Amino acid sequence: MRLIGIVCCLVIWIFSVPVWAANSEVLYQTSTLNALMEGVYDGSISFKELRKHGDFGLGTFNGLDGEMIALDGKFYQVKSNGYAYPVSDSLKTPFSIVKFFRSEKTVYLVRSYNYDQLARYLDSIILSKNLLYAIKIEGMFDYVKTRSVHKQVKPYSKFSEVLRSQAVFEFRNIKGTIVGFRTPEYFAGVNAPGYHFHFISEDRRFGGHLLGCETRDIVIYMDNSREFRLVLPDSSDFLKMDLMKESEVYDY
Ligand code: ZN
Repeated sequence: MRLIGIVCCLVIWIFSVPVWAANSEVLYQTSTLNALMEGVYDGSISFKELRKHGDFGLGTFNGLDGEMIALDGKFYQVKSNGYAYPVSDSLKTPFSIVKFFRSEKTVYLVRSYNYDQLARYLDSIILSKNLLYAIKIEGMFDYVKTRSVHKQVKPYSKFSEVLRSQAVFEFRNIKGTIVGFRTPEYFAGVNAPGYHFHFISEDRRFGGHLLGCETRDIVIYMDNSREFRLVLPDSSDFLKMDLMKESEVYDY
């Protein structure tokens, strides 16, 4: 009886291990940035599925319906009115990057840096330009500029066309969190080399894709990763698309 008890405990333990336990180091991405730039906006993965692969990240929605922010296991949709809404499991994403965030390095920064200065500063504290990083920046900002995009209908325009009508939002003296990633130069096409950040206010009401900022008093959390999983879309748009264009510089 005791042996059966031990076996049962073992079985229960094995099946109760959270999904993330085996995958917490993996940066999980759906589709490629160049496919998104070319107009592959049909969602291929549901948020029910995406949540299994990370509690932190960014992306967009079916039909390019806003900017996605995942933070502390909660997913938000910042629509083109600038407001953040909770994301239902049934929604789908055409492009997202998520990870289970585990901070490995914490840096306090009490000074005013604009976006470019912040990026240069982050470059100076990372371990290597050849690794992947999830980066969370919490604190007080003198200024934050974000954008979101309007939902698209078929036939889809390229992303550069969509950006012409992007909605831009500016905030002053705002507390919040920047959520994002740094990918290496050699990831061009699959993702955007360098930094990609989204922002959400502390009250989780406003946010978007980060265009600019002035930091005041922030804490930077870094989580480097050497593992990357890419899931490609199954849509006919993606299957037929020519993605061999030479090193196009994307203004996303
Ligand atoms: Zn973005």
